[in-house]
Amino acid sequence: MPKSKSSTVTSTSACPCGTNKPYGQCCQPFHLGTRLPATAVLLMRSRYCAFALGLGSYLVDTVPPEKARDFADRTVARQKACWVGLEIVNTKAGGLFENVGFVEFIASFVENGHRGTLHENSRFLRHNGKWLYVDGEMLP
Ligand SMILES: [Zn+2]
Repeated sequence: MPKSKSSTVTSTSACPCGTNKPYGQCCQPFHLGTRLPATAVLLMRSRYCAFALGLGSYLVDTVPPEKARDFADRTVARQKACWVGLEIVNTKAGGLFENVGFVEFIASFVENGHRGTLHENSRFLRHNGKWLYVDGEMLP
């Protein structure tokens, strides 16, 4: 497992997901399991944040169980990049009283000294009250 980078972010520093809220009042309660993200976009932000902090177990815990093994391999590969920014482009459904949602986002990363972006329309489903990332469509 890659070494956790979370030691550089405390509950009072700005949350890596880009909300300008302190981590302790943004994604940290989700990562600690004390709260569940109420909407698809909150799960999206907390998953981006988990990528940025190297919290692999949170990433695996927020996909359907049957996808967890497959996803764990991809997660390790993506963690080699340094995630430097998240822009939510569009959201569709995924609200408090819905069970399916879509979030289009652009995540920026630096890998081997080169900046790149990941543009994806992600699909989320709520299962037993808990939002899960199901899959995503890569966009140009
Ligand atoms: Zn956050």
